[in-house]
Amino acid sequence: MINLNRLNERIEELSKITEENWEGVSRRALTEEDKRAHELVKSWMEKAGMKVFLDPAGNLIGRKEGTVANAKPVTIGSHIDSVLNGGKYDGTIGVIGGIEVAQHIAEESIEIKRPIEIIAFCEEEGSRFGDGGVFGSRAMTGKITKDHLEATDEKGITRREALESFGLNPDEIFTKGLRKKGDMSLYLEMHIEQGPTLESKGVPVGIISGINGRYFGEIIVEGEANHVGATPMDQRYDALVGASEIVIALEEIASKVGAPAVGTVAKMEVLPGFKNVIPDRVEMSGIDIRDLDNKRRDEIVDELQNTALRVAENRGLKVSFYDQLRMSSALSSQQVINKMKEEAEKMNLNYLEMASGACHDAQFMAELCDIGMIFVRSTGGSHNPKESARIEDITLATELLSKTAIHYLQQN
Ligand SMILES: [Zn+2]
Repeated sequence: MINLNRLNERIEELSKITEENWEGVSRRALTEEDKRAHELVKSWMEKAGMKVFLDPAGNLIGRKEGTVANAKPVTIGSHIDSVLNGGKYDGTIGVIGGIEVAQHIAEESIEIKRPIEIIAFCEEEGSRFGDGGVFGSRAMTGKITKDHLEATDEKGITRREALESFGLNPDEIFTKGLRKKGDMSLYLEMHIEQGPTLESKGVPVGIISGINGRYFGEIIVEGEANHVGATPMDQRYDALVGASEIVIALEEIASKVGAPAVGTVAKMEVLPGFKNVIPDRVEMSGIDIRDLDNKRRDEIVDELQNTALRVAENRGLKVSFYDQLRMSSALSSQQVINKMKEEAEKMNLNYLEMASGACHDAQFMAELCDIGMIFVRSTGGSHNPKESARIEDITLATELLSKTAIHYLQQN
């Protein structure tokens, strides 16, 4: 049986390990608090009969062998680091839920052919070294360079030093720490939704069709600075008015495409930023466009840039574009989606098939093996202390995770 009380107690117990002087749960990667959290999670993994080790990138891994020699594992993962002033469910329910699956298998003496692995990935949130997050899963898939080891936190401690304080040799990230395609048979992740869709539809769990691909870029709009009092309205080259039209255009384009496509301008700098001067330069540096369909996502980017060119022409402005990142979406395995739906129907569990707008470690694991993800209905937003999820929903989602994992663990 998946044990509701045990899940609840463990979520509460882990949430108490938090850095002082912050609200909610604040547990940045590779800190003293993170080390204590590792010790606690390790003890739970051991209770579930797993051997536990840290890989060179600081990923905490519990593993229990199956009956078939050299079979590739079914891996369940998420993270236990948090943002500052975060909540107690983000990441942690995936790790605690995974351990619950292993505990259930041990308690019921369920025979498994493949090994089961539970991973708490290192620095998913990127809240300590601030270089994009998903460090552990990026390291495992060969996306980390020596430069990432020299990233520093607010106290000037390098990531290399932080990893060494956990007894690790960071240079082994580039050798022993790497996994290749086929090293795992399946990767599963359970996570809170962090958005309002499940709550608004009254559905406890989501079965994830894939994780949105992301585009990050910048548009710079240039006009002419001039006196705000002396320049008539028809003789202005106001960069901010042009930029504003571009912001509205992105909202219209993404809305027209519809869910799961989203588009946001998250940051703008208005220059020179003086009260008496018409802005001559706007740096729109946080242009973020996401969709499950990479081609359609790129079409949104193209349409936005074409619109920006038109706006510039109409207003006598200049625009330039800087593409910074195009990250492909990761699709869940259709076979795994079908299996999850079948198990959910057997459980009489109401579910919604949906895409994930947020990035997760699963996005990188998709390069190594088939993936599947389950969302749990959550409220209060996320990355804040008000983030919440019902323990009944977490338990149902863990049951679905368990049934799916066991199905694949019992295959050759
Ligand atoms: Zn998370």
